[in-house]
Amino acid sequence: MRVVFASRNRHKVVQVAELLPDVDLLTVDDVAPDLELEEPFDTFEENALVKARTVFLATGIPAIADDSGIEVDALDGEPGVRSARYAGEAATDIENNRKLVEKLRHVPEEKRTCRYRCVAAYVGPLGVELTAAGSCEGRIILEGRGTLGFGYDPHVIPEGETRTMGEIPLEEKLAFSHRGRAFRKLALLLKDHV
Ligand code: IMP
Repeated sequence: MRVVFASRNRHKVVQVAELLPDVDLLTVDDVAPDLELEEPFDTFEENALVKARTVFLATGIPAIADDSGIEVDALDGEPGVRSARYAGEAATDIENNRKLVEKLRHVPEEKRTCRYRCVAAYVGPLGVELTAAGSCEGRIILEGRGTLGFGYDPHVIPEGETRTMGEIPLEEKLAFSHRGRAFRKLALLLKDHV
């Protein structure tokens, strides 16, 4: 089955290719390099669906997308759907992490609980639209560690671990991560529906 992944994040592309080994995965840059992918909504689900719909409508090829982010309890769920743009529209991971750490500097470690969330969406012919959610609980540390991930990974220690997400190899991480959980569920739904 040929599917376009509506993402330009190379880290996500590697992860999703690993999670959907039975799918012939193209990326939006392979089939529609000029297509804009916007995330205008306040929920992961709506943003994932709109990206997948945009790519399916533009290319006619079944599309999948994800929207993801991190929710920090001490910040009332911030940055949430704005995780990629936390420090500004074109913010880098370093800038986003710096802002997060500054906001949490005076919050004790046991109160720096957080979770990564991901919603994976599929949009294809005959009006089929599927979504699946996954989350991964953890806590934030102020001094980042590890270079294996992206985004907030150096500052996130998942529950039951001493390593940060940036120190855990990809294969191991996908077994419990928000994206791993969401895409494994989506793969099951796809088997039933497509
Ligand atoms: P989006 O899904 O393209 O809106 O981007 C989500 C943002 O959330 C990313 O740019 C990262 O900052 C953060 N994020 C989502 N998933 C992960 C992850 O697995 N590791 C690290 N950061 C993540």
